[in-house]
Amino acid sequence: MKLRSPDSDSVVAMLDREECDRARLARDRRYDGHFFTGVRTTKIYCRPVCPVRPAQSRNVSFYPTAAAAQAAGFRPCLRCRPEVAPFSPAWKGSRATVHRAVRLIRAGALDRDGVDALAERLGIGPRHLDRLFAKHIGASPLQFAQANRLHKAKRLLDNTRLPMTEVAVRAGFSSLRRFNATFAEVYKRSPTEIRRVPFKAAALTRPCALGVPRKEKGPACAGPFP
Ligand SMILES: [Zn+2]
Repeated sequence: MKLRSPDSDSVVAMLDREECDRARLARDRRYDGHFFTGVRTTKIYCRPVCPVRPAQSRNVSFYPTAAAAQAAGFRPCLRCRPEVAPFSPAWKGSRATVHRAVRLIRAGALDRDGVDALAERLGIGPRHLDRLFAKHIGASPLQFAQANRLHKAKRLLDNTRLPMTEVAVRAGFSSLRRFNATFAEVYKRSPTEIRRVPFKAAALTRPCALGVPRKEKGPACAGPFP
């Protein structure tokens, strides 16, 4: 991974707009998990390897994590399934506390207790935890937890035939109502409808299957990083 790191170890600051744009237009697998692309016109976010025809450069912005893209108002693409993207190792080790917090949240720490309790377990204040997340994840701990629950649920919907209540519980939702409401809000579809969407796994195993334009550069790419 060679995303530039100009003056800090912040992953958010490390994303280079032109490099991300080249990577997504080329569907470069090496970048999978390292950033996510939000498309302003569709309000959907994708992995760099998405098989769908890439959006125009002027309509996209880049995020270091799926949680950050979601926090910015984008919903996960149903074709490239951001919930199964490899987790970017770029920031690992740069902040042991964030790393530990992410592990705890993934294990359900914020499904049962609040941010204060999590911060206490980490031995820091809740505001400091917020700042670390803003810097390294690009989203708050609660936003990260919500994205994590949603991704877990989506994987269970795609890969198992578990009943909805069981999916909701296993993914960490406090109730079936909350589970349904979150899917309606983020995917604009119910969990049942999501389960019916067929996943074309083959599309992701063929590199650059659609023939990718590589010359989209110019003023459109020079916009401020979101
Ligand atoms: Zn996609």
